[in-house]
Amino acid sequence: MDYARVEGAREYVARLEHGRDWREQIEVFANEEAIDAAFFFGIGAVQDAELWFYDQDEGEYDAIRFEEPFEVTPAVGNISVLDGEPFAHTHATLSREDGSVVAGHLESATTFAGELYVRAFGTSLEREHDPVTDLDLWPL
Ligand code: ZN
Repeated sequence: MDYARVEGAREYVARLEHGRDWREQIEVFANEEAIDAAFFFGIGAVQDAELWFYDQDEGEYDAIRFEEPFEVTPAVGNISVLDGEPFAHTHATLSREDGSVVAGHLESATTFAGELYVRAFGTSLEREHDPVTDLDLWPL
């Protein structure tokens, strides 16, 4: 395991805007606040969702699209830099009216309502291609 000590934490609470993409709003916020490293969690509801699943054999993401409302129970993730821009790596568990859930890597979702807690660090994390997994990971 590789690791780095991080300091200079700043904390935020945020309300996501109705009708806008869940993950994009976090990335716009990170850009505005010059956040290059953070962790967050959030709860709320979305009107649709696209989850991605990483095929470890093929080294590709497969998309699964849902056109239905969900509770976000919760979404968790981190913010770091990918290709020079803030990237909000987000995973979510989404529940239906009957209590069943879908879960995975959240690519996009239209926000119905959302509340976030963000803990940002005074450091920069920039993703780099990892040849073992073919993913963009932190070079710690
Ligand atoms: Zn992921």
